Amino acid sequence: MADFQTPEFRQFPSVPNRLQADATKHLSPFVAKPDHQKNIGFPGELVDNWEQKAIEKMGELLSKYRSLQVYLDSCVKCGACTDKCHYFQGTSDPKNMPVARQDLLRSVYRRYYTIAGKYFPKLVGARDMTREVLDEWHSYFHQCSQCRRCSVFCPYGIDTAEISMAAREIMDSVGHGQKYCNEILGKVQTIGNNLGLPGPALEATLEEFEEEIEEDTGLPVKIPIDVKGADILLITPSADFFAEPHIDGLMGYAKVFHEAGVNWTLSSYASEAANFSMFIGSYSNLKKVAERIRKAALDLGVKRIVVGECGHAWRVAYSFWNTVAGIGSGGDDVYARELQKQLDHSYPIPQHICEFTYDLIKENKLRFNKAENDHRTVTFHDSCNVARGSRMGNYAGGQFDIPRALIKASCNNFVDMDISTIKEATYCCGGGGGLLTDDLMEIRVKGALPRMEALNDVVKSDGVTHMAAICAICKAQFAKILPYYNFPMDMILSTHQLVGEALVMKGSLQEQELDGNGDDDDS
Ligand code: SF4
Ligand code: SF4
Repeated sequence: MADFQTPEFRQFPSVPNRLQADATKHLSPFVAKPDHQKNIGFPGELVDNWEQKAIEKMGELLSKYRSLQVYLDSCVKCGACTDKCHYFQGTSDPKNMPVARQDLLRSVYRRYYTIAGKYFPKLVGARDMTREVLDEWHSYFHQCSQCRRCSVFCPYGIDTAEISMAAREIMDSVGHGQKYCNEILGKVQTIGNNLGLPGPALEATLEEFEEEIEEDTGLPVKIPIDVKGADILLITPSADFFAEPHIDGLMGYAKVFHEAGVNWTLSSYASEAANFSMFIGSYSNLKKVAERIRKAALDLGVKRIVVGECGHAWRVAYSFWNTVAGIGSGGDDVYARELQKQLDHSYPIPQHICEFTYDLIKENKLRFNKAENDHRTVTFHDSCNVARGSRMGNYAGGQFDIPRALIKASCNNFVDMDISTIKEATYCCGGGGGLLTDDLMEIRVKGALPRMEALNDVVKSDGVTHMAAICAICKAQFAKILPYYNFPMDMILSTHQLVGEALVMKGSLQEQELDGNGDDDDS
């Protein structure tokens, strides 16, 4: 299957394995080609005098982002973060300790931006910006999924994810980007989604899903696209249009919208929730991708914007859309102000699909037959960018409770994994932050170790058969790596798949069957 060994489950996961220096130095993603770079505004290849330009870019970021300088200056090397990274746990490479990852950038920062580093570099671990350093950055800053788990355990709240974003931004600015992220960003900005799926192909795909739902339920549930005057615009990851188990989640949203009786639409112009610009630390690209969504919302005249199951997309939507594009109050250009006038402020802007469904559950507007999921015992994987980078329900911890409430409303058998591996302490799936590419398969498999261990525990103790998630990347990553750990690939589910399969829609075949035999499990 692979030319590397899948790590074995550890007897005592809290004890780090023996260190293996440079064990994953060779794991470096493909460098972006000139077209991938230029399409999103970066130099096509390594520029002349790139060392000096990289140092200048670092200076620009330090002056723009005060947090970056604080993070670089305030680490006291207490070691609390060292064993908190899943990539360190899975590889034993000491450079995957969060503090060591930070030091890759901190050492260059010290050399050029601190007095001690300028005059006594060896004494303070300062390094020149060299080709060797650049290659090390390209490897190890792409072995960070920007999950922010380490920051939860750092007494100073140092966010290694932000340091990794800065490093990637510096590399992009001198013409040395990552192929996977940059190629995808070019497609979103020209075609509208990560896949490069044009409008007509998307329409045909959605029609097939409609037929499938009708066959299953007997109801003409629609998955509309480009409907002017619709109330709700759904922005969802394009994986929902082609990948498993994502598609089942999309069909779940469609059933919920149908049952709620709302007028909704997708957009072919903005058919992507993902915004990989965050992974490469590029706010200019982040803004461009977000502005496609704003344009779609304005063109279609919608009143609400709902975001589908995608972890980092929800973080971008929740934390950045408001100020960069006026989706949520904050943007201050003419289009942002126009959108603010158009949107209905009695609903969250934007709103997560889980919040949308949860509100209906609270109002008793959805009927479930939980028995439809009785062949499953389900656990839930909290996605990093939802758990540690955003919220739901407008209260602390809503992002943990609300997806679980959806699962519990639609399943009888739910079990949480160990508390040290969920909610704010959740472990990354191993494929986030721009690592979901085959050239990084080894680090993806190894980085999944802590999550797989926690999953294995509940499989053994409670007979868990499935794990639900609300992130397109987590779902794609797990579908690929579960078999490496001897679990079936279809063990991973969309949360709205569970919802959709238990939902008893009015007039559906499921309703007739239940009411016909009086076997209602209405909860
Ligand atoms: S942000 Fe996540 S992946 Fe990156 S160093 Fe911290 S724990 Fe590791
Ligand atoms: S926990 Fe924070 S202060 Fe301690 S070594 Fe890690 S980054 Fe530095």
